[in-house]
Amino acid sequence: MSSHAIIPEGKPHPADFAAKDNPAFILYDKLKTGYEEQPIPELGPDEVLVEIKKTGICGSDVHFYNTGGMGLVALEEPMCLGHESAGVLVQLGANGLVSKGVLQLGDRVALEPGVTCRMCTDCRGGCYQICEHMVFAAYPPSRGGTLQRYYKLPADLVYRLPESVGLEYGAMMEPLSVAVHAVANKGSMRTGYNVLIFGAGPVGLLAMAVAKGLGGNRIVAVDINEERLNFAKDYAATDVYIPIKPNADEPRPAYSVRAAADLLLSLGIPTRGPGSIDLVVDATGAEVCIQMGLNAIKPGGTYVQTGFGPPDIQVPMFRITTNEVQIKGGWRYGNGDYPLAIDLVNRGLVNLEPLLTHTFKFKDALEAFEITKAGKDKNGKFVIKCVIDGPE
Ligand SMILES: [Zn+2]
Ligand SMILES: [Zn+2]
Repeated sequence: MSSHAIIPEGKPHPADFAAKDNPAFILYDKLKTGYEEQPIPELGPDEVLVEIKKTGICGSDVHFYNTGGMGLVALEEPMCLGHESAGVLVQLGANGLVSKGVLQLGDRVALEPGVTCRMCTDCRGGCYQICEHMVFAAYPPSRGGTLQRYYKLPADLVYRLPESVGLEYGAMMEPLSVAVHAVANKGSMRTGYNVLIFGAGPVGLLAMAVAKGLGGNRIVAVDINEERLNFAKDYAATDVYIPIKPNADEPRPAYSVRAAADLLLSLGIPTRGPGSIDLVVDATGAEVCIQMGLNAIKPGGTYVQTGFGPPDIQVPMFRITTNEVQIKGGWRYGNGDYPLAIDLVNRGLVNLEPLLTHTFKFKDALEAFEITKAGKDKNGKFVIKCVIDGPE
């Protein structure tokens, strides 16, 4: 098939790499973790084996750690945590290079940790992220996460990293792809857009970076935490806004209309026409943020929901209908999001370095969860993204 093939098609994969042990970081129950030896995965013909070198900690990992579940899913049995990873290819399945025709042993790769059925109408229709048969790392019921030495994936779900991108930033391609999916894919971001982003946590900050990298005009960050907003302003936001306080007994919807008007007025943003808000991304899930976003957006604008909060909330439906506001869900990432994320970093359009605030050894994984949960480390330093090394 490809002249680069280093393993002829149809031949069984050679188990010629020096397979070591496979220690894994396991969540047994909420707040109860430990290390356990796991079997080294056996490869199917189109799969590859990655030796994990770096894994980032995500809000969802911390949520599982803290509560034993997330949203409608709960831990069913002990589960290896982690899903934001990069590593080195140590074994290729029998089909060798498989789909991309470019993978070689020793390649440094970012992992896309959701395996889909490829058969259903959603997979075939190009929206594999909503496949009902999705098996996602560290998301029950699943085969476990990436905080272990070896992890296998179909060959088309690993992406070779350019020379300029370190493995720790390779691990951050996962949350960056969430931001790319929200801003570029669902949000159809264009150069010159004015973008309003709620939440200055990791995903919100990455969404700001993507909006900036793709040529955004104004990028407005909203958060209730001033320290986060100061960071956002230095990082990628052109404007920041701390919401005004609600009045006593003021209903949320009324407050949200008032706060949206205050946001626009105080930043000199028109409600429609040139300079108005083209795109809103909510990375909080908070009801008032969602309402504010839907009230601040221009008629015909696009609103993307990526944050999680209460499952049922009130939205200004009359405004949505009469102004044809387009509301879209943004769930993880889909076709083309990883390549764009990697390209944005490789070309210097998105800088991940300021977001990587802490690194830990594999044996200290628990500390990474604890400080991500607290939002501060032992010395009071602000935590954005923690990355844990693979086992030594
Ligand atoms: Zn994540
Ligand atoms: Zn499917």
